[in-house]
Amino acid sequence: MSVAATADLLDYDDVIARYDPVMGMEVHVELSTATKMFCGCANRFGAEPNTLVCPTCLGLPGALPVLNEAAVSSAIRIGLALNCEIASWCRFARKNYFYPDQPKNYQISQYDEPIAFNGYLDVPLEDGTTWRVEIERAHMEEDTGKLTHLGSETGRIAGATTSLADFNRAGVPLIEIVTKPIEGAGERAPEIARAYVTALRDLLRGLDVSDVRMDQGSMRCDANVSLKPKGDSEFGTRTETKNVNSLKSVEVAVRYEMRRQAAVLTSGGRVTQETRHFHEDGYTSAGRAKETAEDYRYFPEPDLEPVAPSAELVEQLRTTIPELPWLARKRIQDEWGISDEVMRDLVNAGAVELVAATVAAGSSSESARAWWGSFLMQKANEAGVAVADLPITPVQVAAVVRLVDDGKLSNKLARQVVEGVLAGEGEPEAVMTARGLALVRDDSLIQSAVDEALAANPDVAEKIRGGKIAAAGAIVGAVMKATKGQADAARVRELVLQACGVS
Ligand code: ADP
Ligand code: MG
Ligand code: ZN
Repeated sequence: MSVAATADLLDYDDVIARYDPVMGMEVHVELSTATKMFCGCANRFGAEPNTLVCPTCLGLPGALPVLNEAAVSSAIRIGLALNCEIASWCRFARKNYFYPDQPKNYQISQYDEPIAFNGYLDVPLEDGTTWRVEIERAHMEEDTGKLTHLGSETGRIAGATTSLADFNRAGVPLIEIVTKPIEGAGERAPEIARAYVTALRDLLRGLDVSDVRMDQGSMRCDANVSLKPKGDSEFGTRTETKNVNSLKSVEVAVRYEMRRQAAVLTSGGRVTQETRHFHEDGYTSAGRAKETAEDYRYFPEPDLEPVAPSAELVEQLRTTIPELPWLARKRIQDEWGISDEVMRDLVNAGAVELVAATVAAGSSSESARAWWGSFLMQKANEAGVAVADLPITPVQVAAVVRLVDDGKLSNKLARQVVEGVLAGEGEPEAVMTARGLALVRDDSLIQSAVDEALAANPDVAEKIRGGKIAAAGAIVGAVMKATKGQADAARVRELVLQACGVS
């Protein structure tokens, strides 16, 4: 840890004994729309720098924004999932400031007229209870470009010798979700902050509106924290820790700020209202003094029409809001009758939805779980990808299950079929045919293989005929080999014994 990490910290128990924490979470999510918020450029992570740009998202003179309807629909769906009211009429606003990642010198955002407001999310906690977090608003805005600073040890601008600007991200649709102050959490504040961001991520993933990858920045969290002397009603001065980029870090950042601010307050000091940087090794350091809304000279965006979603559209979108993912998971777990541990493994592997979709496509839940939870999980690990990213769909897995259930494939052959599907050889049935993997069901084919095997191993055949039934295993093995594992071993054994007159 660096020097900054050794800032005075009060023992956590003492913090709780003297102060009540208040928190506010601001979460930015990048929508996974095909195109950007106000232009037709592709919205894609990881492309060559400055290849996904046009005059609008580069802020060139004369270029005008055009609103992305799909982004508005996603914003409304997010608002509905968060139990918000949806504005029947609202505008975008210009937030004016200069920074080199922002080519227009202003960000198109929403200010006092957000698309969604006044909601709540009932957040599941580890002890099985829920905590209601109230939502202030969810508003639409555009992302900035990305700066890369070279030459400094930290990758930050201080001490950098060169800065590179990539505008691929400029204009990507963002939704900012802001909570009302979270009060009364006491010692559970860090846990509740983490649980909230976790629940929000799961909710957004369930809505299929964003990748919600904190590691790639498609979901970013700023944590506001203040302390007030126990029992006081007036809030203390808050700090805003920026870009806390993992769930664990949310918890660590809140806890650290509580301990640091408590140390400042107990020694008679004042907390400075400021933004702070979160450091991966678990501490925060001072950033810029916090600007106020007035500093940004917000005014209604003159280049865009107001957004006025009809009541019909809102109601239609309401029908697309799925059950809360954690409630759905609980229901599914009960339906499948599986233990918490098995469920947790499936959840951690991101396989619950895949299993559910496989069941919906006709598989039994046992078979679906077996495929996704073991063989495909192993294939995903080998390939270093998430199981959901394997090139096989739940419908295809259900088709493989059906081939096994119909007796056309053994489990072993089915794994080869799945390998073929993963290798891009086509649908399961086609792979089975092309690779010639179907079980041999034709007794006459098996019979001729049995006859050949007996003829090729006269001494073994003699032993079997003499009553040494255990010797049949060698013949069965030879037949299985000759039929490339496609014969039914039990049937082969019957035919071998019959041929030797000992059945
Ligand atoms: P800003 O853009 O200035 O950060 P926002 O309103 O977007 O302001 O977000 C502030 C967040 O901090 C909100 O979640 C709000 O509920 C919360 N908040 C406001 N005052 C306090 C405070 N004194 N202590 C902790 N959190 C606070
Ligand atoms: Mg803010
Ligand atoms: Zn563009």
